[in-house]
Amino acid sequence: MAVTRTFSIIKPDATRRNITGKVTAMLEEAGLRVVASKRIHMTKDQAEGFYGVHRERPFFNDLVQFMMSGPVVVQVLEGEDAVALNRKVMGATNPANADAGTIRKELAESIEANTVHGSDSEENAAIEIAFFFKPDEIVG
Ligand code: ADP
Ligand code: MG
Repeated sequence: MAVTRTFSIIKPDATRRNITGKVTAMLEEAGLRVVASKRIHMTKDQAEGFYGVHRERPFFNDLVQFMMSGPVVVQVLEGEDAVALNRKVMGATNPANADAGTIRKELAESIEANTVHGSDSEENAAIEIAFFFKPDEIVG
C-alpha cells in the first residue's frame, strides 16, 4: 500500500484541555507522521468554508461556532493509506459509538466536541490540505 497524506484538525475541546500532545502521540503511535502543523484560531470564513459541505445540516451553525471557540491545530499526516488509517485511530463521529482505544472513545467530550477532524477521502484530503497549507509548509 502506498504512503499517502491526510488532513487533521485537533479541535478546540482538545486545545482547551491541553491535550494536543496526547492526541498527536496517539496519531504517531498509529503509524502516522506529522509533516506539517500549525496552531491557528479559525475565522468565521475559514470555519464556514471548511465545513461548507455541512451547510444544510441542523448542526452547522453550532459546529462553526464550536470550531471558532478556541485555537485548533491543523496538521498534515503521512502514512500507509493515511486517510483510512487516520479515520481508524480517530474512531466514530459519536464517541459513544467509537471503538475502545480510539482518540474519540478515549478523549472526546461529545458528538460535536469530538477532539479531531480527519479527511474522509483522498480527494478531500488534497482539498483540505490546500485550504490551510502552502506546499513549502509541508516537510516530509
Ligand atoms: P466526521 O468528523 O466523523 O467526518 P461529519 O463529517 O459527519 O463527521 O461531521 C463533521 C463534524 O460535525 C463532526 O466531527 C462533529 O464535530 C460535528 N457533528 C456531526 N454530527 C453532529 C451532530 N449530530 N450533532 C452535532 N455535531 C455534529
Ligand atoms: Mg467528515
